Amino acid sequence: MSHVPVFFPPGARIAVLTCEPVGVLDYLAPEGGVRQGQLVLVPLGPRRVLGLVWAEGTGDFDLAKLRAVSKVLDAEPFAPGFLDFLTRAAEYTLTPLPLMLRMATRAPDIDQPPAARRIIVPGSGVVPRVTEARTRVMAVMAEHGGASFAASELAQLAGVGSSVVKGLVGTGTLAEIEAPRDLPYPALDPGRPGKALDGDQQAASDRLRGAVRGGAYGTTLLRGVTGSGKTEVYLEAVAECLAQGRQALVLLPEIALSAEFLDRVEARFGARPGEWHSGITRTERRRLWHMAGRGQVGLVVGARSALFLPFRDLGLIVVDEEHDGSYKQEDVVYYSARDMAVLRASIARAQVVLASATPSLESWVNAAAGKYARLDLRSRYGEADLPQMAAIDLRAEAMESGRWISPTLAAAVTARLEKGEQSLIFLNRRGFAPVTVCRACGEQIACHQCDARMVEHRFQNRLVCHQCGETRPIPTACPSCGVEGKLAPIGPGVERIAEEVAARFPEAKATVLSSDLFHSARALKETIAEISEGDTDIIIGTQIVAKGHNFPRLTLVGVVDADLGLQGADLRAAERSFQLMRQVAGRAGRISGAAPGVALLQTHQPDHAVIRAILSGQDEAFWDAEAAGRQAAGMPPYGRLAGIILSHPDLDVVSDFARHLAGLAAPLAEVGAELWGPAPAPIARVRGRHRMRMLIRAPRQAPLQAAISDWLRGVRLPANLRLSVDIDPQSF
Ligand code: ADP
Ligand code: ZN
Repeated sequence: MSHVPVFFPPGARIAVLTCEPVGVLDYLAPEGGVRQGQLVLVPLGPRRVLGLVWAEGTGDFDLAKLRAVSKVLDAEPFAPGFLDFLTRAAEYTLTPLPLMLRMATRAPDIDQPPAARRIIVPGSGVVPRVTEARTRVMAVMAEHGGASFAASELAQLAGVGSSVVKGLVGTGTLAEIEAPRDLPYPALDPGRPGKALDGDQQAASDRLRGAVRGGAYGTTLLRGVTGSGKTEVYLEAVAECLAQGRQALVLLPEIALSAEFLDRVEARFGARPGEWHSGITRTERRRLWHMAGRGQVGLVVGARSALFLPFRDLGLIVVDEEHDGSYKQEDVVYYSARDMAVLRASIARAQVVLASATPSLESWVNAAAGKYARLDLRSRYGEADLPQMAAIDLRAEAMESGRWISPTLAAAVTARLEKGEQSLIFLNRRGFAPVTVCRACGEQIACHQCDARMVEHRFQNRLVCHQCGETRPIPTACPSCGVEGKLAPIGPGVERIAEEVAARFPEAKATVLSSDLFHSARALKETIAEISEGDTDIIIGTQIVAKGHNFPRLTLVGVVDADLGLQGADLRAAERSFQLMRQVAGRAGRISGAAPGVALLQTHQPDHAVIRAILSGQDEAFWDAEAAGRQAAGMPPYGRLAGIILSHPDLDVVSDFARHLAGLAAPLAEVGAELWGPAPAPIARVRGRHRMRMLIRAPRQAPLQAAISDWLRGVRLPANLRLSVDIDPQSF
């Protein structure tokens, strides 16, 4: 382990971690000195704020004027590599360093007093008098086996009052104990045998194990269709990492953090990993954060922000479904967890595994250029075949008005119903109808706060803005002309498809899977479990069904509108649409002994390049063609892009300032970068703030970040104007 410098009195430079970036200030160190990477409380004006020991004091200060560090917090000092990572991540994303540090330290509420924390653990386990509420509490305990929570958190997770939990403690069914500060995670046993691997899997596993053993940095793109056994392969790399005594991190798109995955880890290693996502309790968050820092959790499975945990010695980062859009954070700090994983691993001398059936074009190009290694799993594991694909040409179908399921698709669903198999009808649009129009005056109902139409959500009986979340009751009269009874929903969302399914297949049991219909991650997981058990005939779903769930009785996938993602000015539209449809189609499996699954795409343009690529299964040809197009246009991953987003409640303020800023852009031209815009952002108003965007395109090797810093340095922002820099934006 590397040496951590200790700074003795008098001085230490402390990075002050407040919301408004203050920077690095000098303080008097306490008697015993402080170590670099240690967290402290320091006085700042009248407040005491969180700080991080950054470096030894520079000596160039007046001792009498220095204020003293108030308190050294009880947390492991950050490993030097972690500070390097945060510094470089801040430089790359053009985030002020204090903001980056704050993001990495905010999660555990480390500056809050630890209070006497008591947690609930299993007692006798026998429930003396069974009630529904008690059963729910015990189910949560079982589901989160090994996690720790306070009584109130447990009650909240179970959706019961805390008296229910207290009652169970009273009867001895549960026990409440002082939280051991250092409750380590149960050790995972990497020596347990995994599944017997097939040829491609074994070759991939050998390569990854060897790379992990080598203890150097490297990135591998692990490609294989859904069900080809990528998870089995990267669990072997995890086993090797644990056997080396290092820590491993598996990132999943949040929604795929299912109990199913945790069960698989438990089956493989005999214990559950640490879990990190928005659904875990505060107690659990603190515990995992501290244990990661002490090296006392071997494997963490988490959503993108798990990448900013202070791991002591990270040897492997897996990014599963690496192409997934949820790895990009576009709030406060703009970053791509996939790219930051590569950065972190290169500093920590760790391996990265990017797993996907449909890699991002960036990763595909990096693998083709030899920057990443590439391993392919060529077939589905075992006998399962890929689904048969076909287009349903909507121009040739006799569609009834107000219906979106074609006769051909309906017949295929009927055939599955007769065989007792499941169908999935996919439409990537939440709600009942995307537009509500007045047939008297033509008005389309829009959000007051955003440049967006209100979407009808009939199950909730409300109109909802998908930008800001504002909702209102569905009016009976047009808000513009006042005429009654003329408002009409236009176009389908999943709820409308569900209505059509209910009308056409009244005997079938249908379930709608759409993120807005579930109040908690738990409710969603329960529904997914029910579907897996075969309790549903027809699933109607948005993109949440595309991610990582295995539904063993699902043999038909119908895509209602395969053209949905193809339009639009966004250069990434084709790539995204291809990934989504390939993933969704991959849900159709084969039931052993039966015919292969079928995926049917309803489209008006069966000759579109994306549709043809999906149908023909020529994924590589598609990526190569996309890559050639991007190269010709000098767009990512061949050229570099950054976005500048400006927002202000007053349109004149933001557009005047944008023009002013564009006038100062000489430093960009000096490095060969072009400035495009300013123009209204793709969504020109959100939550009452007008938004303008500029795009900067630079050659691959240009010092883009440095040029943007030069450009923005010393610029004074008008009051209340927000400026965000988005390096490598998702849409362009
Ligand atoms: P992917 O991650 O590529 O979607 P998985 O690793 O989830 O694929 O594998 C798909 C299914 O096949 C899982 O149920 C998994 O347990 C099973 N499977 C994969 N490889 C093996 C193997 N070598 N032996 C037994 N079952 C396997
Ligand atoms: Zn809105």
